[in-house]
Amino acid sequence: MNPAGDVDEIIGRLTAMRAVDPPTHGGRVLSYVYDPGLDELERVMKRAIQEVLPVNGLDPTTFRSVGVLESELVGFTRGLLNGDAEVVGSATSGGTESCLLAVKTARDVWREAHPEGRPRLLAPVTVHAAFQKAAHYFDLVLDLVPVSPEGEVDARDLVARLDDDVALVVVSAPNYPFAALDPVAEVAEAAAARGIPVHVDACIGGLVLPFWEDDAGEPLPAWDFRVPGVTSISADLHKYGYAPKGVSVLLQRGRDRQRHQYFATTRWPGYPVVNPTLLGSKSASPLAAGWAIAQWLGQGGFAELTASCLRSTRVLQATVDGIEGLRVVGEPTGPLFAVAVDDSVPAERRVDPHHWADAVRRHGFVLQLQPALAQEGGELLPSTTHLTITPVTESVVDELSAALVAGADAVRGVPHVDGAALLAGLPPLGALDSDTAWALLQGIGIGGGGELPDAQAPLLALIEALPAPIAERLLVELLGRLVEPR
Ligand SMILES: *Cc1c(COP(=O)(O)O)cnc(C)c1O
Repeated sequence: MNPAGDVDEIIGRLTAMRAVDPPTHGGRVLSYVYDPGLDELERVMKRAIQEVLPVNGLDPTTFRSVGVLESELVGFTRGLLNGDAEVVGSATSGGTESCLLAVKTARDVWREAHPEGRPRLLAPVTVHAAFQKAAHYFDLVLDLVPVSPEGEVDARDLVARLDDDVALVVVSAPNYPFAALDPVAEVAEAAAARGIPVHVDACIGGLVLPFWEDDAGEPLPAWDFRVPGVTSISADLHKYGYAPKGVSVLLQRGRDRQRHQYFATTRWPGYPVVNPTLLGSKSASPLAAGWAIAQWLGQGGFAELTASCLRSTRVLQATVDGIEGLRVVGEPTGPLFAVAVDDSVPAERRVDPHHWADAVRRHGFVLQLQPALAQEGGELLPSTTHLTITPVTESVVDELSAALVAGADAVRGVPHVDGAALLAGLPPLGALDSDTAWALLQGIGIGGGGELPDAQAPLLALIEALPAPIAERLLVELLGRLVEPR
């Protein structure tokens, strides 16, 4: 081999690129990464990955190890979520794939019973965007039910929309934007009475809520397979399972129902294709890592890590409660919550959550900005900032609390960026082609030199103010340009 490059130089470049990323360890980024803060766990997953690196996860009949790993990981998750022998499942590449497959399964079951018409997907507006994607990919009517400004859905509003065209109802445990635990039992009972399946999206909560308790120290109301009408649950191992990205589990009640998840064909001249998931050839690394971590931690290990998340979550919520001008949205369940402006204080004492996130970032912690949303019927969900707490948070919780307070002090009284004023500076917008969209973005100072702005409040204000199709088109352009070869 006469290599084109020098390995030290190549890896050196990679190291330099990674140095620009926000830190993935140490609790500085409160979304995207789920750090247990345990070096030993890191070593467990690296060794597992090393073992299976060359394996093709496509075919468990050839690579028998893959089938065993999947069976054991599904079994572990099923035990945690109180599934009995009727519950079967698959490992998928992540939460989105689990959600897509839950919808695809329900659609195909529905189509068998309804040769005509278009199925409907019913969920609160707070359901993860992966379900919007699923409805789009699999051609279901998307029916999103408004929630209260605290992010809570009324079970009766969902139940009122149940009908024969509903292929699947989705509720969350908890939802991502506000961490509200949806009324799973109430919805499932009504849906089951009409024979309509219910998916519980526990992508983020699946491995923590089994060990969570409410403010009074009581266990949560049943939201998993203990609820008879629940037909499927998604739970991400690459979130609170602490695995590297690329592994989630989709559990389904009933073999016959679950078989609709599969795609199989013998009608081509190549090898017979039988796929329970969207991908063909795939890595076994995240699966093996997720499996090894689950084996290593056991339920007791997960309980301990969750207890740490619970302590930090309580501390940080108390911190926010103590900050004049901010408030925790609703009654979050699990190690995540959203923060909004407290309108009950005078304007000059209010803290805008987006300016706050930008200010906290200057103190070394990256929070996640969430836009306001006008719901069907007009009621507005507020602009918020989202925090996801992981076990490592406990090691920096005092510093983080201080940063939350200092950030608020720095921007108290600064109003939310005026999105309408930003819009007024733009030409009239119609259908955008790629070059026009790019010029527009550059005109407002985004994406010019390949650099993204540090202050995100203006970007979010623009997203809030623009008609959704235009905001979406601009974001597509931004992401598209980001990866174009230069
Ligand atoms: C993260 C998440 C998803 C989507 O998962 P990805 O792993 O990002 O694809 C779906 N639902 C909820 C509630 C989530 O938190």
